[in-house]
Amino acid sequence: MDRSDNMRRIRSKNTGPELIVRRLLYSLGYRYRLHRADLPGKPDLVFGRRRKVIFVHGCFWHQHSRCKITHVPQSNGEYWAPKLARNKARDVRTKAKLRKLGWDYLIIWECETKDPEKLKGRLVSFL
Ligand SMILES: [Zn+2]
Repeated sequence: MDRSDNMRRIRSKNTGPELIVRRLLYSLGYRYRLHRADLPGKPDLVFGRRRKVIFVHGCFWHQHSRCKITHVPQSNGEYWAPKLARNKARDVRTKAKLRKLGWDYLIIWECETKDPEKLKGRLVSFL
């Protein structure tokens, strides 16, 4: 598998952490739409009536600050650093756009999906 194949796989929409969040919310009785393309950032989960969206962010791709999973790879640093910086900048713009349109958002980080009870608490209090 070369790097581009590997990247496509990692970036595919139905990633582990996202599935954890979806299954949990579904089991709690919440219903949502996925990846609505008409909203900024194509949010992972959309709660239309509540005007709320949830993003499940990979700690690496979205450069979760102060996180163990996040680091710019030593090899190919000049390839990764600008790419990851762009992702982060895009996230900032997306959040501003959503706010402007009157949507509330929650970011769930990949590392936060490891503790189901804590995750549940965050999701329920947001929704
Ligand atoms: Zn993290």
